[in-house]
Amino acid sequence: MATLGNPTNTIAVLQKYGFNFQKKYGQNFLIDSNILENIIDAAEVTKDDCVIEIGPGIGTMTQYLCENAREVVAVEIDKNLIPILADTLSAYDNITVINEDILKVDINKIVQEKNQGRPVKVVANLPYYITTPIIMGLFESHVPLDSITIMVQKEVADRMQVGPGTKDYGALSLAVQYYADPQIEMIVPATCFMPRPNVDSAVIKLTRYQNPPVQALDEGFMFDVIRASFNQRRKTLVNGLTNAGNLKVSKDKVLEVLEEMGLPATIRGEALTLEQFARLSDLLRK
Ligand code: SAM
Repeated sequence: MATLGNPTNTIAVLQKYGFNFQKKYGQNFLIDSNILENIIDAAEVTKDDCVIEIGPGIGTMTQYLCENAREVVAVEIDKNLIPILADTLSAYDNITVINEDILKVDINKIVQEKNQGRPVKVVANLPYYITTPIIMGLFESHVPLDSITIMVQKEVADRMQVGPGTKDYGALSLAVQYYADPQIEMIVPATCFMPRPNVDSAVIKLTRYQNPPVQALDEGFMFDVIRASFNQRRKTLVNGLTNAGNLKVSKDKVLEVLEEMGLPATIRGEALTLEQFARLSDLLRK
């Protein structure tokens, strides 16, 4: 089977199997070999690595991963792609394809089985409709990870990288920056995909921290506080926190903590750093 990272070979495979793109699965296949090589380089995949790929599609990037990694596990939801993958990946004996929804798969179990629980690399051209749940799921379930190198909407990559006081700053920025060092590796125009998405994309690498850059007494509670702070973006932090039923904090308590931190009562969540959120949640918990 020829390599797929170009329009001619991709179209040939799609026609051979009479494949119809499913919009609901966010299917935009890569057709540019330079971009594919750059992704593998950015992810620093070597023959020591076990790589998990989310959404292999017809196996375009999977071929590159199989060439460069020791072991590849690819999780694909669309059953119509499974016979195609059996064909396009037939030359490799270091690939396991799992026909499942990535949000339902026990990735910790896969890492245990395939890499004896040692950290894996995740490399993917993600289905954009579930970018955030996929990333949060990987971090919050504490899958042993070296890094996550993913293609996402450019705007989402920006959100992961920015700091306080910018319009893109939010719960996703804080969560990503708590667990990992985010680095945008390249911007990818819509012309590199088939079919073309409506937006530009970016490849971002999230390198997992050994230890988080801040310490919170209760990580779960800190993320509840962060989510509540951004739930009602145009409201003050005081209102966001006291309106969130799950936090059970009074307005007086929030005002007291803000004063202790030297912050004004009118401050909004988008002005706080990760460090300040850790302190805020520790003081609210007391
Ligand atoms: N990796 C391929 C490429 O780069 O050409 C395809 C990328 S395409 C943007 C996203 C892929 O994720 C599709 O193959 C789609 O069927 C698959 N997908 C969508 N939702 C999924 C889910 N919940 N679990 C696993 N795979 C999913």
